Amino acid sequence: MGLVVVGAAGRMGRTLIRAIHEAPGAELCGAVEREGSAFVGQDAGELAGVGKLGVSISDDPLQAFASADGVLDFTAPAATVQFSGYAAQARIAHVIGTTGCSPEDDARIAAAARHAPIVKSGNMSLGVNLLAVLVEQAARALDAADFDIEVLEMHHRHKVDAPSGTALLLGQAAATGRGIDLADNAVRVRDGHTGPREEGAIGFATLRGGSVVGDHSIILAGPGERIVLSHHAEDRALFARGAVKAALWAHARKPGLYSMRDVLGLGA
Ligand code: NAD
Repeated sequence: MGLVVVGAAGRMGRTLIRAIHEAPGAELCGAVEREGSAFVGQDAGELAGVGKLGVSISDDPLQAFASADGVLDFTAPAATVQFSGYAAQARIAHVIGTTGCSPEDDARIAAAARHAPIVKSGNMSLGVNLLAVLVEQAARALDAADFDIEVLEMHHRHKVDAPSGTALLLGQAAATGRGIDLADNAVRVRDGHTGPREEGAIGFATLRGGSVVGDHSIILAGPGERIVLSHHAEDRALFARGAVKAALWAHARKPGLYSMRDVLGLGA
């Protein structure tokens, strides 16, 4: 399967190039960066540290997508929305790891998914997607009158969006377990005289610093006891391998918007 990496010079972009290089059945056929990027024209393999691959980084996504079977996209929301349109036109699989998309961005991505398969997830690792299943079960089993749910996350100092896509994915799993709407019940920031905690709220706390790849804990705090479900990502290669797996899974699948839970067979 010929794959294009967009955002090829980014932290995830370079990791994706390495993951494709190691994956049987996948081949790098294009690499795209922003117009004006200093990396345009460089060999993608050399940039990613796997040696020359003969694939130059280009700033022309349309041309790169024309001869590809799929796109791996860990960039930024505005770019991802644009790429979903191009991938839909080319009728090729689009794997989206980009986080921080607005509801409007998500609506445009869903529209593109009418024409091509899209796998979108705030976290591409097996561990976090399994954790989401466990969080959903725990939230369903533990009554909101007794157990408060808080999501705590920490990421490296360069991360630009908060809460993380993974924290929101886990918050959504808790909301699904409770049968409530996350948007109506999420408390994303607390500051000053907040008053007591609202029953049924799902709280988020965000830490940033150093080189942390991604730490998440879901705390279910009840009367006299606490359950803490945690995941610690040690290497972003984990996400890249998941993204390649998602692309191979989506190849030649019917158009539609899929999640990593679909890819991993972990149910809805
Ligand atoms: P980064 O800033 O290192 O890389 C982003 C790259 O995208 C940059 O090289 C930038 O130039 C490029 N880019 C931006 N707009 C572009 C455009 N229009 N055309 C081509 N390239 C463009 O960031 P990162 O740490 O690699 O993270 C990227 C995204 O992936 C973030 O949203 C992050 O939260 C997300 N992420 C998701 C997962 C997951 O498993 N879903 C894991 C890690 C990171």
